[in-house]
Amino acid sequence: MTYDDQNIFAKILRGQIPCETLFEDEHVLAFMDIMPQVDGHCLVIPKRPSVGLLDADPSVFGPLFTAVQRLSKAVTQAFDADGVTVMQFNGSAAGQTVFHLHVHVMPRKAGIPPRPHTGKMEAPEIIEKNAALIRAALG
Ligand code: AMP
Repeated sequence: MTYDDQNIFAKILRGQIPCETLFEDEHVLAFMDIMPQVDGHCLVIPKRPSVGLLDADPSVFGPLFTAVQRLSKAVTQAFDADGVTVMQFNGSAAGQTVFHLHVHVMPRKAGIPPRPHTGKMEAPEIIEKNAALIRAALG
């Protein structure tokens, strides 16, 4: 599969559609997932385009997983989480729905299962409130 620069995350990176940004630098953008499987579900994407893990330039992984770790610590603090689920899908057979490499970061509470993948759109005010908690924890 070749990279399609009309995918939704490419549009977010170009500022053509909005997102609830948590942080960004020259390499990555972290933002809230609009159909969160748990409260505080967020995503990290490299700015350099690739469909997924298999076609990515390995140089993206350092900055990407540094950001995943930073975000995992922040969501743990923000949601008093017992654990963090980090997920990454490659290909529609594996559950990928947006074809720009991304990593899911989900704070988890013991005994609370995640909601379905790409389920219900969250109310914007809830997303904003949860983003504010994460930003405060990011410092
Ligand atoms: P995946 O199935 O791994 O490709 O995940 C794509 C994720 O992107 C899902 O969790 C969606 O809820 C999320 N998503 C789709 N569109 C947007 C958007 N415009 N802003 C934020 N998250 C999105």
